Amino acid sequence: MNLDPRTLLFSLILTNTLMALSLFVAASGKRRDGVGLWAIAILLETLTWILIAARGAIPDALSLVIANGFKAGAHALALAAVCEFQRRTAPRWQYFVPVALAMLMAGLLADDIRGRFVWGSLIFAFQIALIAHMLLTDKETRAGRAWRLMFGGLIAMQLVLGLRAAAALFGYAEFAQPQTAIAPHPVQIVSFIAIMATALIGSIAFILMVKERADREILHLAMTDSLTGVPNRRALMDQALHVMAQRGGRPMSLLMIDVDHFKRINDTLGHPAGDEVLRRVTQLLSERLRGGDVIGRYGGEEFCVIAPNTEIDGALTLAESLREIVAATPIPTEAGEVSITISIGISCCRSDTVRELKDVLADADTALYAAKNAGRNQVVRSCNC
Ligand code: GH3
Ligand code: MG
Ligand code: MG
Repeated sequence: MNLDPRTLLFSLILTNTLMALSLFVAASGKRRDGVGLWAIAILLETLTWILIAARGAIPDALSLVIANGFKAGAHALALAAVCEFQRRTAPRWQYFVPVALAMLMAGLLADDIRGRFVWGSLIFAFQIALIAHMLLTDKETRAGRAWRLMFGGLIAMQLVLGLRAAAALFGYAEFAQPQTAIAPHPVQIVSFIAIMATALIGSIAFILMVKERADREILHLAMTDSLTGVPNRRALMDQALHVMAQRGGRPMSLLMIDVDHFKRINDTLGHPAGDEVLRRVTQLLSERLRGGDVIGRYGGEEFCVIAPNTEIDGALTLAESLREIVAATPIPTEAGEVSITISIGISCCRSDTVRELKDVLADADTALYAAKNAGRNQVVRSCNC
């Protein structure tokens, strides 16, 4: 296949321009998620290639010094975009020093193409390593999968830079010049294709990274109770089903917890105080639980604890200590301190039984009702346990 470098250069400019335009459309002014900066980086990269394409027809100061400054600037903006996405900051010198060095290098080595290739590759490789380092050192970015795509693109870029530096060192620098189409060389062709591919892959990866994080945030919102921060009923039921499916032959207990006379707190101290009580009760309960236990808000002032690998005796001990902690801890609110109690109904799945979640919940509810009838501030186990 005979690929013409000038056609490749034209395609590179065209695809980069279209990509930058699409990214500007995708970027939102309100959300500072890095897409806008990434779009400017792609635009600057495109301007670099336009200047390089015009080499010979425009002064060298533009096609060499400014072009190298733009290229390093594009990398610095890509770093800034990743930092903005991650809500982190990189030291300022990491943006400005490589750009200054690239321009200085291009100016000093205007007549030394080999030198430009080697030193330019080193500066650009350093900038790309900074971006790769940012990707690798952010836990939230690595929670998704799209960062791997971008990381792969960066590795490919490093290989191309190495290839171009090697070509220059072995005396093939002329071949790697984009505007000389006289003798297309594999290094030249491979470089163009790799540069096009990495800009495209990097942009797709960036948009995917933003999307992955938005998906995670939406899922979190959909599964979390906004008042108390614990799983809401939907998430709780999902977790309960998961625990029941995974428990194998092991036992499991479920605690249904209800705040006693909660309506009175709202009526006497007001709803904000009631809300504060719910937040504080959640905190008190959560602090007492073990790592594998799950607490969620089942409804208004009702909570549910799923205790995997827990027999009824263990569940009774746990429930009793939760009841004692709440009863013994006065809760400060804006309207004054308030002492509350909770009632708990326990149901369970014994090691040797298979039960449906709705039956376990119904049993816990019946036991809770019995605890209320017995005078509240009580723990009652289901008669099926
Ligand atoms: P019992 O001891 O029988 O459980 O009595 P109770 O007053 O706790 O039970 P009831 O079901 O009569 O009242 C529950 C109250 O909880 C009524 C409702 O307005 C209130 N509530 C539900 N969700 C919230 C909330 O998010 N914030 C506040 N402040 N109150 C809530
Ligand atoms: Mg209640
Ligand atoms: Mg209730």
